Amino acid sequence: MSGLLLSRDDGKRVGSEKQLAQMRANMVEYQLRRRGIKDERVLKAFLKVPRHKFVRPQDIWHAYEDYPLAIGYGQTISQPYMVAIMTELLELKGDERVLEIGTGSGYQAAILAELAKEVFTIERIPELARKAEAVLQELGYTNVKVIVGDGSKGLPEYAPYDAIIVTAAAPRPPQPLLEQLKERGRLVVPVGTRKLQDLLRITRIGNDFKTENFGPCLFVPLIGEAGWRGENELEGSEGYEV
Ligand code: SAM
Repeated sequence: MSGLLLSRDDGKRVGSEKQLAQMRANMVEYQLRRRGIKDERVLKAFLKVPRHKFVRPQDIWHAYEDYPLAIGYGQTISQPYMVAIMTELLELKGDERVLEIGTGSGYQAAILAELAKEVFTIERIPELARKAEAVLQELGYTNVKVIVGDGSKGLPEYAPYDAIIVTAAAPRPPQPLLEQLKERGRLVVPVGTRKLQDLLRITRIGNDFKTENFGPCLFVPLIGEAGWRGENELEGSEGYEV
């Protein structure tokens, strides 16, 4: 594989899988470990998953940079550090059933597949779901199921989940997702307005929910029944309490 030449669409840069692996190792060291990501299993997963397979061909040489990238249809693959923080907050040990809302490129789903037993991931844009499914298949992930639909309603047929991650911004924690958490299950979700959110981790304790706030973040909107109702809806958060 290391001899394989990859080029950008403009042909200005060529290189090998080996160079990309080096860039990946640098990403893990400088963007994740030195910024405080501690879970060794999480760091190992980021070292293994080839992020460049999940971006558009013209972005291969930007795949390991410290920012989000466009993936088409107005959507993004999140910044590696944000993917890492959210993953670490799920506290996965290896035997969990995980639900992801917002498959996008499929990169976060691949990371989850490295860390949990089974992953269900929902995407509302069929073209993105199909593309992500193809890459996940090509990479040999047999423990991920990609589903097209409105993930704000969750996926009751496979509930309850040990962990649920929402990779789009919600106006409030979606009630169906809270209901689909197992006892001690964790929901990680950006909640706020269309312009700014807080990254929340909500843990189910009996019929109560403990909410922790990990600071500001910015995501594309969760469009759906328990999210925002339309791409152009201007409404902000109705207010949530932490
Ligand atoms: N996790 C993705 C990755 O690793 O590439 C990035 C996700 S991107 C920031 C957010 C995704 O959420 C978009 O692909 C968008 O289409 C999707 N989305 C928004 N609302 C949704 C909904 N109600 N159900 C499922 N997917 C939704």
